[in-house]
Amino acid sequence: MNRICGRTAASALAVAAFVLSPDLQASAPRRHKTQAAKPAVQTPPPVLEVPAATRLLVIAPHPDDEVLGAGGLMQRVKSTGGTVRVVYLTDGDGYPEGVKEEDHVEAPTAKDYLGYGKQRRREARAALVRLGLADAFQTFLGFPDGGLCRLTREYWSDRRAAYRSPYTRLNRPPKGEMLRPATQYRGEDLSQELALIIGDFNPTMIAVPRREDQHADHCAAWYFLNDALNDVRRVHPEFTTDEINYIVHFNTWPFEEEGPRLDPPPGLRGGASGWMRLALTPTETRSKRQALRRFTTQMHVMDWFLDGFARSNEVFSRPRPFRVILPSRRSPCCDQ
Ligand SMILES: [Zn+2]
Repeated sequence: MNRICGRTAASALAVAAFVLSPDLQASAPRRHKTQAAKPAVQTPPPVLEVPAATRLLVIAPHPDDEVLGAGGLMQRVKSTGGTVRVVYLTDGDGYPEGVKEEDHVEAPTAKDYLGYGKQRRREARAALVRLGLADAFQTFLGFPDGGLCRLTREYWSDRRAAYRSPYTRLNRPPKGEMLRPATQYRGEDLSQELALIIGDFNPTMIAVPRREDQHADHCAAWYFLNDALNDVRRVHPEFTTDEINYIVHFNTWPFEEEGPRLDPPPGLRGGASGWMRLALTPTETRSKRQALRRFTTQMHVMDWFLDGFARSNEVFSRPRPFRVILPSRRSPCCDQ
């Protein structure tokens, strides 16, 4: 997670319309007053099946998204004999309000932002330990927080200078976070790093934010993952995996309901699968809540938001077929 800068609910709706997703629901037509109301048919909500020995890859735009979206799923995969790997696209260092709060400084420097990113990486390690996933492989790619959507468009290839973070002043990942030598803040470099990880880990299930997520980095994460999958399939046409999507930012969700259950966001359909629920045991929910509290920098600025995801279930969906072509002339993510 990271904040969505000063956006109103009205502008959020305008952005949602711009995305033009068939999964965004129009308001329901009014029932004609002479039409008899039919009794509601109760169908049990679809359940996300977690096969034994699942190899789960979780794509997190920022440290904490993996636990917000899939903290219960990761525990379930582990307890059913599977393996978990988490890839963090950014260190979550481009967050001026958070750095000011943490460091008590009015004008953070590049060094302050880098220090904040390091702290968030430490928190992500502690969170996974709390989930019982001390042996899970964590990969921090160190791409620019707040800049991913620009990489889907104008900062795609070496035909122009790489993107430079206005926070850390970096134009490439720190050396220790580079999988491929010469990686810079360019879209094709990020796709290639993800393709490398997928080829290496061979996941049977991948959890990534939905493209309708209203945080630009989350939306871009979906595009980069699917671009990387296209690359992998070009070389290995037989490769298959179960892509499931989680969501973190969508209007005022998940605070429409304050109960223990997590219902899907109103106004957003469940993709190709319909919304699927994963019911968590009380122990899994408690561990998820406590893991979220390991993100102390985020708890300091938005504990209420993190706590809102520690419920008795998680929700996922599978995407409808969608042809991803990057770079795109018009990014549906950047204007969010
Ligand atoms: Zn995030």
